[in-house]
Amino acid sequence: MALKNILVTGGTGYIGSHTVVELLGSGYNVHIIDNLSNSDRSMLERIHQITNKIPYFTQLDLRNKIDVFKFFEKHTKFDGIIHFAALKSVGESVFQPLKYYENNVVGLLNLLEGSSQNNINNFVFSSSCTVYGSPDLVPVTEHTKFGHTPSPYGATKQMCERILDDYSYSSSDYNTISLRYFNPLGAHDSGIIGELPSGIPNNLMPYITQTAIGIRPYLAVFGNDYSTPDGTAIRDYIHVMDLAKAHVKAVEYFALQTGKVNEKINIGTGKGKSVFDIIHSFEKVSGIKLNYKIEGRREGDVESIYANATKAENLLNWKAELSLDDMTRSAWNWEQKYRKEG
Ligand code: NAD
Ligand code: UDP
Repeated sequence: MALKNILVTGGTGYIGSHTVVELLGSGYNVHIIDNLSNSDRSMLERIHQITNKIPYFTQLDLRNKIDVFKFFEKHTKFDGIIHFAALKSVGESVFQPLKYYENNVVGLLNLLEGSSQNNINNFVFSSSCTVYGSPDLVPVTEHTKFGHTPSPYGATKQMCERILDDYSYSSSDYNTISLRYFNPLGAHDSGIIGELPSGIPNNLMPYITQTAIGIRPYLAVFGNDYSTPDGTAIRDYIHVMDLAKAHVKAVEYFALQTGKVNEKINIGTGKGKSVFDIIHSFEKVSGIKLNYKIEGRREGDVESIYANATKAENLLNWKAELSLDDMTRSAWNWEQKYRKEG
């Protein structure tokens, strides 16, 4: 049976908002819950500008069990949940581990308990390639074992996957898919929504665009002495719109199955790109010579990780379609438009 009404937690955030646009465009009804700790209510108007539709919105903190239960008493009609809401700063999590365990793990527990009152049996979880730690072999498949993750953030993703496994096991008809994202980049083509990190960006792409627009003096390249072709670290960068589409495919997949679903699926392009590849692509699409300096390696960084993404293709009929230049171009378009128009 086709799913129609989707609850999206963290739907005003970066990946959530792009996914909401895709869901609305595909005809789903969307209800967002978000505590706005890392996003802004104005996102709803931005989504409206793109889709001509306004998703339902409830401001709610998943850490608050009573509020979560009240929400599910009032709203009973969801066919599925996509759970993005989490804190995501790897570095911050090292210094504030309890905040991360409470937000990401307790948040999931409250959501599962609250929603269990309403018999909502389809659940998509935002996991991450960080669950693999520092792999011995790349590309990683879904059979690659969990590795040691130096950050509490990474540990929360491993724990949440385990919780979902156990929960699914305990029930005859609870369906879960954990999508293990690699490195999302870029923005919607319109430039109306994109990634807006608070404070100094940790991630590569927003640091590049903020340097190019003059907010940061230079980009520090963290290490050029890795055993990689150009000496810089390798990741699997994936366009946020491709990632958004993978969520719609996951929801469609639930509707097609008769048996129980419990899957982990890599969402990447299958191609490893270096930090210099990103810089060169950015320089090409923007026509700007980026100011960067080589600095030491960042603690905890993995040398190389990229996905074997064939499971997503076989199971979900999903494949990344957009190129690295599409990613850097759309990120730059968003940065310029946002700084000019807000
Ligand atoms: P984001 O911070 O832009 O969005 C997360 C949203 O969740 C925000 O709007 C925030 O306000 C909300 N939120 C956080 N805690 C909440 C709570 N307790 N109750 C209600 N709302 C809450 O992050 P994003 O980049 O869109 O990431 C979305 C998900 O994808 C996260 O689970 C993240 O861990 C995961 N992920 C992100 C990346 C990445 O590089 N961006 C990579 C892999 C996985
Ligand atoms: N990186 C960098 N300078 C920065 C930010 C990131 O050289 O200011 C590198 C980082 O060392 C890694 C890659 O860019 O090799 C991607 O880092 P990001 O933080 O975006 O994602 P991660 O893979 O660490 O989650």
